[in-house]
Amino acid sequence: MSRAHGVLSARTFPVVLSAPSGAGKTTIARRLRERRGDVVFSVSATTRPARDYEVDGRDYHFVAPGDFRRMIDGGELLEWAEVHGNYYGTPRRNLDQAVDRGQFLLLDIDVQGARQIRMHAPEALHVFVLPPSGAELVERLMGRGSESDSTRARRLRNACAEVQEAAEFDYVVVNDDLDATVDAIEGVMAAEAHRIRRIPGFAQALDRLCDEIRDHTEPPSGASANESSTQE
Ligand code: ADP
Ligand code: 5GP
Repeated sequence: MSRAHGVLSARTFPVVLSAPSGAGKTTIARRLRERRGDVVFSVSATTRPARDYEVDGRDYHFVAPGDFRRMIDGGELLEWAEVHGNYYGTPRRNLDQAVDRGQFLLLDIDVQGARQIRMHAPEALHVFVLPPSGAELVERLMGRGSESDSTRARRLRNACAEVQEAAEFDYVVVNDDLDATVDAIEGVMAAEAHRIRRIPGFAQALDRLCDEIRDHTEPPSGASANESSTQE
């Protein structure tokens, strides 16, 4: 009990990562998960076709448009948006499970989704990822080789509107060196865990601490106030 009365006991929260396509969200999310057992990736549903290297259920739940519509209608999605011509959404159960298990839920979602998370999960931490430069963004997207020329052009056309939303986020990181980026995000997560407004029952914990201080300073029972002051 003496250790801060549970004030800093395990408190987790969702972590939203947004960035223009190709800035490195997926890579960062993977590295963060490798480093930390208490981080779980939020597997989204999408109508986008799977890339060669993607695995259904691990990278995304790849669904038909009709199924996506049914998920919306059934209230299964915490947030959803149309992004670069496809639909993407976060299953509500991802958050429920992470909360039950005391894990940080890492959401790689676009700026529209981030806005919805601000409303539905106000405890979430929002981190915007910038590329080191425009040239590097284009190079990374080309280097990934996952899109056709027209799809890549569309993503780059949308990049400027996306970065304009960065000011709405809590923190920004520039993904130059990958490990330094992940260090920065871990640093932000650690700092946020100490934010007083995130600590449930903070005032009560302080009351308990005061009770304990009193218990250790009040005279033994039976001793009068006079006796105790004589002892001083
Ligand atoms: P996003 O998920 O934001 O679209 P990805 O994680 O797929 O971006 O990264 C796009 C490409 O850039 C990938 O080929 C990835 O290996 C590369 N990449 C990501 N982070 C870095 C980095 N810090 N330095 C160099 N290349 C990177
Ligand atoms: P990609 O097709 O490159 O995997 O993702 C395209 C964009 O969709 C990225 O900005 C990614 O963050 C976003 N995205 C992925 N999953 C979700 C989701 O569940 N909801 C929202 N709103 N955006 C998502």
